[in-house]
Amino acid sequence: MKALQTIMLSCAKATEYLNLREEGQLNVKQNLQLKLHLLACKTCKAYEKQSEILKNMFGAYSEKHAKPLKNEKLKAGIKAKLEDL
Ligand SMILES: [Zn+2]
Repeated sequence: MKALQTIMLSCAKATEYLNLREEGQLNVKQNLQLKLHLLACKTCKAYEKQSEILKNMFGAYSEKHAKPLKNEKLKAGIKAKLEDL
């Protein structure tokens, strides 16, 4: 069973890998291990779904609210600089 243990991730490790994958920091081997774990583990699969929903919600929010705010600040900053000249 030792070979199986090295292939199969623990749930703690799997959720850690999920977070790493979000940041694009997962290598090919880790990605494969994570995929295998998600096939076998319903708990982590649910966690994956949940974090995707959260990510989409946050993404929609920041697109609607954060970006215009940033642009306005940037514009104001540029305008202030131009007026200084
Ligand atoms: Zn798991």
